[in-house]
Amino acid sequence: MPNAAPRPDAATLIALEERFGARNYAPLDVVLTRGEGVWVWDVEGHRYLDCLAAYSAVNQGHCHPRIMAALVEQARRLCLTGRAFRNDQLGPFYEEIASLTHSHRVLPMNSGAEAVESALKVARKWGYTHKRVPEDRAEIVVCADNFHGRTLSIVSFSTDDDSRRQFGPFTPGFRVVPYGDAAAMEAAIGPHTVAVLLEPIQGEAGVIIPPDGYLRDVRRLCDAHDVLMILDEIQTGLGRTGRLLAEEHEGVVADMTLVGKALSGGFYPVSAVLSNNAALGTLRPGEHGSTFGGNPLACAVARAALRVLVEEDMIGNADRVGRHLLGALRAANLPGVREVRGRGLMLAVELDPRLGGARRYTEALRHAGLLCKDTHVHTIRLSPPLVLTMAEADWIVERVGEVVRGLGK
Ligand SMILES: *Cc1c(COP(=O)(O)O)cnc(C)c1O
Repeated sequence: MPNAAPRPDAATLIALEERFGARNYAPLDVVLTRGEGVWVWDVEGHRYLDCLAAYSAVNQGHCHPRIMAALVEQARRLCLTGRAFRNDQLGPFYEEIASLTHSHRVLPMNSGAEAVESALKVARKWGYTHKRVPEDRAEIVVCADNFHGRTLSIVSFSTDDDSRRQFGPFTPGFRVVPYGDAAAMEAAIGPHTVAVLLEPIQGEAGVIIPPDGYLRDVRRLCDAHDVLMILDEIQTGLGRTGRLLAEEHEGVVADMTLVGKALSGGFYPVSAVLSNNAALGTLRPGEHGSTFGGNPLACAVARAALRVLVEEDMIGNADRVGRHLLGALRAANLPGVREVRGRGLMLAVELDPRLGGARRYTEALRHAGLLCKDTHVHTIRLSPPLVLTMAEADWIVERVGEVVRGLGK
């Protein structure tokens, strides 16, 4: 074997990022080079359990062999045609995801933010055509502390100062109400309201679970006032909460459901608007599109990613192992922990604010072999891949226990 060129070390790679990259993230200084299932390795050979799973984009585990095989096989045949022509992966992808989610129609896009933008456009079009809202007067109701992505229109209705400050002027037509409060939502719905947009559980806000019945109440309001219900399941969807879609916990069906992230198992950006005929049926040729949306490589990867989720029972596993992890973290009764909450494998450990923030904890957890993300200052989010075993869940509880006991004194 010829000698491989020496690989740059972590410090060199970090310096390159800092020197040449836009500094729009503040990552932990761990430089990853390989992943398999729930595990990732850094360039120095240390192994970590990945408790972020790329914000739930890697639900199926890192480098899942069946998804990888589909990617490679499709990449050899055909990657991109543009939508000026048809391709032999798009129809089957539509049919499979529609039947799995009981949707009538599908709009394929790439990033999550694009799926959100697309749904907002479709909702406005529906409002002008179906509801006869006067042109340019459509309103969409959203929730405080939302996270729906980073485009200008989406940050226009963010309530997070860092996301908005100095990025104006903003897109008009949005009204913000408190999350989890159906009465506030009803009060905000007027004759020009075309849609409400919300997350079934607010992920980036710190895994905020709304009161029981909230989604059902929102569904009732939308029916009563002829308003589209748009659920952003880009993070909660595809098994994360122990159901294929989080809306199933309350037995509701949204008019448009947005999925992304794990739709490709982390291989490739793929997102989609899943809809009933009424909403997506309003789009006509030329009104919306995307060069990469619906390309054969994306469709082949997404088909494999969905098959793996279902056939390998990752959704049931998320439910069972998630319950176990939640129970064990609560039972550990850790000092300085205000609350442990979660559904499926979407969990959060909220620390007492007097402890000075979660970043110190995520740094210490990294040295204990666990990669986590602090969110909203005082919360440690735990969202490992859905292939996590019971034994690995116990291992997480031990590591979190050591670190929190060590720092919480
Ligand atoms: C991540 C996320 C998005 C944005 O997805 P991108 O692929 O980063 O554009 C939108 N909504 C929710 C709920 C998310 O978690």
